[in-house]
Amino acid sequence: MAVTLTAQERRLRELARKHGTPLMLISRSVLRDQLQRFRDALPRVEPFFAIKANAHPEIIKAMVAGRASFDVASVAEMNLVLAAGAKPAQVIFANTVKPEASIALAAKKGVTLMTFDSEYELAKIAEHAPGARVLVRIKVPNVGSIVELSLKFGVDPADATSLMIKAYKLGLQPAGVSFHVGSQCLRVENYIEALEMAAIIARDARLKQLPFEIVDIGGGFPIRHFDHEEDPFGRLASVLKSELDRLFDPAIRIIAEPGRFIVGPAATLLMRVIGKAIRENKLWYYLDDGLYGSLSGQVFDHCKYEFKYLRGGHTQLSTLAGPTCDSFDIIARGEDAPELQLGDVVYVENIGAYSLASATTFNGMPTAKVVMTP
Ligand SMILES: *Cc1c(COP(=O)(O)O)cnc(C)c1O
Repeated sequence: MAVTLTAQERRLRELARKHGTPLMLISRSVLRDQLQRFRDALPRVEPFFAIKANAHPEIIKAMVAGRASFDVASVAEMNLVLAAGAKPAQVIFANTVKPEASIALAAKKGVTLMTFDSEYELAKIAEHAPGARVLVRIKVPNVGSIVELSLKFGVDPADATSLMIKAYKLGLQPAGVSFHVGSQCLRVENYIEALEMAAIIARDARLKQLPFEIVDIGGGFPIRHFDHEEDPFGRLASVLKSELDRLFDPAIRIIAEPGRFIVGPAATLLMRVIGKAIRENKLWYYLDDGLYGSLSGQVFDHCKYEFKYLRGGHTQLSTLAGPTCDSFDIIARGEDAPELQLGDVVYVENIGAYSLASATTFNGMPTAKVVMTP
């Protein structure tokens, strides 16, 4: 059945025709707006964009242009941001477990701010990056966050100060603490509890004459994935802003590592129906991207997406599947979809984070082509 498309929908159809599918459109203005929104809402917090969310060169370029700093987890990520023009002082090596060669290379390139969460890592850093500034990552509640990041990382907050003293004795600069409340964190209490722990450690470190200067509040800043949801960031950020002022004197530098928040809303994925079947009385649609590709966030990032169609009419519960030969590659069951035809476009908005970043070419299926839009 015909439906009147909005100007935006007509534009999407046109771009799919022009560039082919699967296609990921990334908007430069949305990238800029998200960075600005972050800064406006949290004026005290310096954003270090976590490039693991999406390391596309154009995104890095846009962040360099916006004078953002960067969170990197590997030498390859470090090289990407330095090559794009980031200064070494704008980079944090925020993987708490790093190969010795990577630590040495970071030091050589002048990237001297890094995180750790064990004595063993401190010894490695002291040997390969003497004098480096280190942040102790503490374990904090990840209650309700969609992606749990405290299972694998973080020291007991009660041990933080003694580890900072150890760092000092090894000739390092114990610069402060870091934490991550879990990705897509919808519970502001996670941040508040973590900040309260950080404030206690800051006070303790100062009592012990340690040069405490930085609190790294990590990532986790949430975005909206479904049109019916309220945008969760604003309310969270306003509580966070006042808690930061309550707990830390202005001399303490606050940094953050937003990933999803910066790139998530900037991208739209366009796919096409390449096959159709009726199985057990249900309509199945096979798309040209799936769980091994740009929708890999459904697996690794535990993300759910809103699928949209450029067609109206009566809807029925249908199944969406990806293009590979693996039965695991089923994108959605029980999707309320209009009846689609071969070649129809199916699209997903807010899919810039943890999508292309974990996409493979399994079965020879190409990853989505990226096209930057204004
Ligand atoms: C993944 C990660 C981030 C980014 O997290 P988001 O939830 O995407 O903001 C930041 N810091 C560290 C250490 C991470 O592992």
